[in-house]
Amino acid sequence: MPRPQRGGFVVRGEDKVVAEVIVDIAHSEVDKIFDYLCAEDTVAGMRVAVPFGRSAATGFVMRVKEKSEYPAEKLKRIYRNEEVALTKESLLLAEKLAARYRCPMALVLRLFLPAEMRTGKVTESYRTFARLAGGYTPSARAKQQNALAEFLRDNGEADAAFLRERFGGALDALVKKGLAVLERRRVLRNPYGEVEGEKTEHCLTEAQRGAVKKIEEESRTVTLLHGVTGSGKTEIYLTLIAKQLEAGKTALFLVPEISLTPLMLSRLRARFGRKVAILHSGLSAGERFDEWCRLREGDARIAVGARSAVFAPVENVGIIVVDEEHDGSYASENSPRYHAADIAILRAKYNGCKVVLGSATPSVETYRRAETGEFALVTLPNRINARPLPEVTVVDMRREVRRGNASPFSALLREKLGKCLAEGNQAILFLNRRGFSQTVTCRDCGYVAKCEHCDVSLTYHSDENCLKCHYCGTKYRMLPACPECGGVHLLYAGTGTQRVVKELSALFPAARVLRMDVDTTSGKEGHYKILKRFADREADILVGTQMVAKGHDFPGVTLVGILDADMSLHFPDYRSGERTFQLVTQVAGRSGRAEEKGEVVLQTRDPENFVLRFACNYDYEGFYRHEIGMRAATCFPPFARVVRVMVTADTEREALDALKEAYEAAEAVYKAHEEDFLFFNKMHAPVKRIQNKYRYQILMRLTDGEPLKEIYAAVAAIKYKNALVWVEENPSNLN
Ligand code: ADP
Ligand code: ZN
Repeated sequence: MPRPQRGGFVVRGEDKVVAEVIVDIAHSEVDKIFDYLCAEDTVAGMRVAVPFGRSAATGFVMRVKEKSEYPAEKLKRIYRNEEVALTKESLLLAEKLAARYRCPMALVLRLFLPAEMRTGKVTESYRTFARLAGGYTPSARAKQQNALAEFLRDNGEADAAFLRERFGGALDALVKKGLAVLERRRVLRNPYGEVEGEKTEHCLTEAQRGAVKKIEEESRTVTLLHGVTGSGKTEIYLTLIAKQLEAGKTALFLVPEISLTPLMLSRLRARFGRKVAILHSGLSAGERFDEWCRLREGDARIAVGARSAVFAPVENVGIIVVDEEHDGSYASENSPRYHAADIAILRAKYNGCKVVLGSATPSVETYRRAETGEFALVTLPNRINARPLPEVTVVDMRREVRRGNASPFSALLREKLGKCLAEGNQAILFLNRRGFSQTVTCRDCGYVAKCEHCDVSLTYHSDENCLKCHYCGTKYRMLPACPECGGVHLLYAGTGTQRVVKELSALFPAARVLRMDVDTTSGKEGHYKILKRFADREADILVGTQMVAKGHDFPGVTLVGILDADMSLHFPDYRSGERTFQLVTQVAGRSGRAEEKGEVVLQTRDPENFVLRFACNYDYEGFYRHEIGMRAATCFPPFARVVRVMVTADTEREALDALKEAYEAAEAVYKAHEEDFLFFNKMHAPVKRIQNKYRYQILMRLTDGEPLKEIYAAVAAIKYKNALVWVEENPSNLN
């Protein structure tokens, strides 16, 4: 297939047949099929431009047919974009999703294309190359030219800009004499080009070989690969993928956030070279476009990326891997609110291939599906080479405070940090809060600094000396005094990453500390740069938010400190226990991955908490038993569905009006199926306002999935004035 291009819409041949077109306007009123005349060789999936109303629009051909119900003279003609076509599978999948989530088809189709292709903003990238034309003989007077000619003779050709930088005017002098030629060519951008693959292909262990065999021979589509951190899951994925490639197939490899896993990337590059294409939002528009094209054309056969990569345009899929399947980032927070694993399963059924869901801490819902036999289960209980899991010591922070220690570090953590540094090892300190302090409060009147646009308190950031809203990003100048009472005694309560870094430098002045959180990782390869510096031992301590918990493999790390394990524990959310267990296990798993034994210090004010107890012992089974028992007793997922209808609007009035309409629509469903509802009510959302939008919700718990379809339909059928209304199922964020 030729390379897709932007623009370039043409009319072709005689328009004898009829195309059913979805116009790329995401509005419920145009969410239907429009018929257009087109040439006979038009195929489903083609991108087209069509006259629409008084203007033009782009769209996709969904089907081609002989005849329309409309008279031919009433039909308009389409303009085709010759090259771009969505796959047949994409169209089928899109139709399924649009029906399932009651979402305009145009919006669903956008998932299948790089955004830049739709908006036409992407540009192909060109570079100029130079090579020798022949006939060059060294001259004693032109030393630079000799050097350049020699360089070109050795290297064949090279980038002209680079040559000008290195050899000055010599290049243009040679070109002028006709001894070198320049050529401008299109180049494909190569994201993470500097991520070099290290050849680390291992001979699989007995356990790994067994897992591969079991997954391949399994008759069920989905296998849950439950392996402790460092048990060699990645090597299993790579082997499964390699075998499918050999069989002429393609692969999808989903990871939570690829920018956080440069090591994974280098392992893929090492093994598969340019057959790997990376799809994720951190790439530049041009890079993403090029990678998408390489997949669509079959140049690349492994699509690696976060959630949206599940829509990669590969055909003939042989395997789909979802690594860290428990990760919250697999659930989309925009319409359509799909979960990547659900899409993976749909694609696997279409392609007749397997899905592997991998995790050290599977989500309770997934594990349940394995337990009931819907999914196959493969367990790896041990680390590679029987390396021990790091020992976890729990410190009761209430006791520390009683002893007069108000710092973020317990005496034990301080001692262990000192020892770790003295031995030349590295440490990771985890804290789920960025900034310096959580709140700024007036000692005299109790005033709390809050965002003007959101119903949340502001966080003090010491490096910029400002207050930031972590919901909308607005920055405020630091308050010299309380705006309410004029008092000058402002308290900074709670600890954030910046404060930890500051206190570390006071405790260990010689230690080199890196901070990794949203504030330090902006920019295209922001995460990668910090992780690389830490991996290259340019720092001794890495302080960070949950980003540091992801699957990193730093051999130098022998100590992990979890500064406040309680922070995620007391979220008003049925998943808070599960999430804390996952977080603690994952962070702890960063310690002691190489020869040196690792350890973990876990600080909490609730040392008897069952979640933490199980996490300390790496007892997933125990945790699961306890948790699933609770979920069954209280009727929460997977024994029921939490469904939320969200309503947001610019004013309280508009929000309440829309809420009333949505509530009446949903209530009709509730009344008709009362026996399937465990709970049904409307209320303020926990955060009442975000980015100036007032927020309300209708919360329900359903034992049966049937009424859910009716809820979707009832809520979608209403035209809300000046408000947004949508449905969420088992939302991962209940703000
Ligand atoms: P997981 O994905 O389960 O956390 P990894 O696949 O990252 O585990 O493996 C953990 C470590 O063990 C890595 O450093 C990896 O290079 C190494 N490893 C994996 N498989 C083998 C093997 N068969 N032999 C030796 N080392 C291995
Ligand atoms: Zn805000």
